[in-house]
Amino acid sequence: MTNPDPLLEGLNPAQQAAVSHAGGPLLVIAGAGSGKTRVLTRRIAYLMARRGAAAYEILAITFTNKAAGEMKERVTELVGPIAKSMWVSTFHSACVRLLRQEASRLGYSNSFSIYDSADSLRLITIVAKELNLDSKRYPARQFQSMISNAKNELLGPQDYLLAAQNQFEQVVADVYVIYQRRLVQANAMDFDDLILKTVQVLQQFPEAKARFRSRFRHVLVDEYQDTNHAQYILVRELVGTDLDGMPPAELCVVGDADQSIYGFRGATIRNILQFELDYPNASTVLLEQNYRSTQNILSAANAVITRNEGRKEKNLWSEEGPGAPLIGYVAESEHDEAEFVKDEIRSLQNKGESTPGNTAIFYRTNAQSRVFEEVFMRAGLPYKVVGGLRFYERKEVKDLLAYLRVLSNLSDEVSLRRIINVPKRGIGDRAIECVDLFTQHNEISFWSGLNRCMEAPGIPTRAGQSIGDFVSMMIALRVLVEAKVRPSVIIEAVLEQSGLMSELASSSDPQDEVRLENLQELLAVSMEYEERPIEELGEDEEISLAGFLEKVALVADADEIPEGEEHEGVVTMMTLHTAKGLEFPTVFLTGMEDGIFPHSRTFDSKEDIEEERRLAYVGLTRAQKRLYISRAEYRSSWGAPNYNPPSRFLDEIPEGVIEWRNLGGTSPSLSPSLVRKSRVLSAPPPRATGKKSNAIELAVGERVSHDTFGLGTVVAIAGVGDKSEATINFGQYGEKRLLLRYAPVEKL
Ligand code: ATP
Ligand code: MG
Repeated sequence: MTNPDPLLEGLNPAQQAAVSHAGGPLLVIAGAGSGKTRVLTRRIAYLMARRGAAAYEILAITFTNKAAGEMKERVTELVGPIAKSMWVSTFHSACVRLLRQEASRLGYSNSFSIYDSADSLRLITIVAKELNLDSKRYPARQFQSMISNAKNELLGPQDYLLAAQNQFEQVVADVYVIYQRRLVQANAMDFDDLILKTVQVLQQFPEAKARFRSRFRHVLVDEYQDTNHAQYILVRELVGTDLDGMPPAELCVVGDADQSIYGFRGATIRNILQFELDYPNASTVLLEQNYRSTQNILSAANAVITRNEGRKEKNLWSEEGPGAPLIGYVAESEHDEAEFVKDEIRSLQNKGESTPGNTAIFYRTNAQSRVFEEVFMRAGLPYKVVGGLRFYERKEVKDLLAYLRVLSNLSDEVSLRRIINVPKRGIGDRAIECVDLFTQHNEISFWSGLNRCMEAPGIPTRAGQSIGDFVSMMIALRVLVEAKVRPSVIIEAVLEQSGLMSELASSSDPQDEVRLENLQELLAVSMEYEERPIEELGEDEEISLAGFLEKVALVADADEIPEGEEHEGVVTMMTLHTAKGLEFPTVFLTGMEDGIFPHSRTFDSKEDIEEERRLAYVGLTRAQKRLYISRAEYRSSWGAPNYNPPSRFLDEIPEGVIEWRNLGGTSPSLSPSLVRKSRVLSAPPPRATGKKSNAIELAVGERVSHDTFGLGTVVAIAGVGDKSEATINFGQYGEKRLLLRYAPVEKL
């Protein structure tokens, strides 16, 4: 089947129709792996090459920055480098870019800070404390999630206050009002604000709206099923209707209601189910052929998702043939499960059937990665965790970023409080309280308060002097920012002058070495950022500290997926949520236990269980050729052993497509209560495996090899088991003290 137009080649007729559709809104709705994302990418290329759309007229929204990068790359391959200036980004990145031009309309400066979830929690905690709220009765996290939900529904503090139904909601409203005021004072927005404030700009300022409306003639959204109300309204405002005097933009959204997995963040399937009602002149295209997976994998996924009620039945099929059966495995413990996965990856590699780089391991919660990490580390099997112990959530990284954020925005109070005494410089709580009282009394900002701290009544002299030194240091560093010095140079200056570096370097705690490496890594990230080719920068972007901070603030989990040659051969580990939209030839779906997946907190609600089932559907449909499904008979959580029955989703997979390699002590089809009883009677002492140390055993004089430092000789050993440490001489790198449990060393 040859097509005259190369831009429509390699597409089936339904996909071609979607790519070349012109005019009214278009909804592409289809199951996993049916080429929705491919349609979106081709459509962008088609708009540019065949319909005369300019790159700046196109706004494409993807779910992760990683997906955006890939899409841009694909379009560039198809139509050339003009595609580079196109806006392909996540909702959040697009909003930041828009707000950098428009935020002043709402009383922010255009260099506003972006607070991530941890920053916002910190600020909420401060606010709750000021309101004298009992943190046991009113956990800050709960405020955070309720405020976030409100923002996702586009409810501002005043709206929320008016709508409050009971005393608890009144309290939330009080916190919300002050929290929001403090954000504005700090010239900062949290993640939810980015969407909400953009909507406000578009709704309140017709000239701003007209500007973006006339610019973006095409709006395309991937993973539409995971948009929340605020994002939905944002799209609607950008696209417009026939009624408001300007032709609406062409809208194309693609999604799959069966893959909606962000209900807990306010995503609503309603947006996709009612698209046709919201946009009466919309066309719909259905795709039914799956190009990703074998029929066995699809049959398993279809059988599971069919259990959800009230969904539109889809007929998803594959031409790939049945392929290998799924492999099931019941491990005794989570540790054995990880061993099985590791052995299987090795054996597939030895047989030439798959490579580590083709392989992904999925689990329900971040913490589950740890066991896999330990097993893989000891086996010397390279891996990469996407998300999880997220680099940007590590304390030392956040400390350094906080310095940079203050340097870029002196009103950023949360960051300023974070670093004022980090590293320790003798500025205690009492001194800060004096400054706080002084600033409240004089109605000045925290930064101004610090500048004038000597006037603050009761301030301890020593602390006052330290604050003075800190302020002078920051002012000196700020000169670099104003001179538009490269971010990496600023980072080096901060590392040196703040004392962050010397504190860690002089420590004998082996963990501090890792922390130093993380700081160096951030320096490397900034250099990478500076090396970006000019043509990749948007028209209003420049290399700057603010630009760097923006990039960092918006890195989503999926951005850490390995790329390029040097990472080939690396197993990828990630949560099921992060796996959305991706595909891998070999997939291990692990921790298939009731209580883990589905998660125990979803047991009581049918809707929540259905969302978990959609997550299972997402996981199963990531696999192209090989799919392993495993569970552990017991697993320790918070240090105590837990016997979880098999996941109910296992029972939903038809017997004909799965082969069980190991059934464990009990059959996976036994009822949960039976399993529990039988395990209690016959289980081995559960801690036996758990107690065994995961550290490698070394003796003085032995030779080892370390991933970073190379060859070395053990000169001393201290501690036992998981706490054992070795002092190793690495020649040119000198002597290092390493905690053996984590150290990437191997005995020679
Ligand atoms: P998901 O729901 O998981 O996001 P999707 O519907 O977006 O999946 P894609 O990722 O676009 O699906 O496509 C799945 C795979 O099938 C990709 O490897 C893609 O290149 C391939 N593919 C899509 N359409 C075709 C086609 N017409 N011919 C051959 N391969 C195709
Ligand atoms: Mg997709």
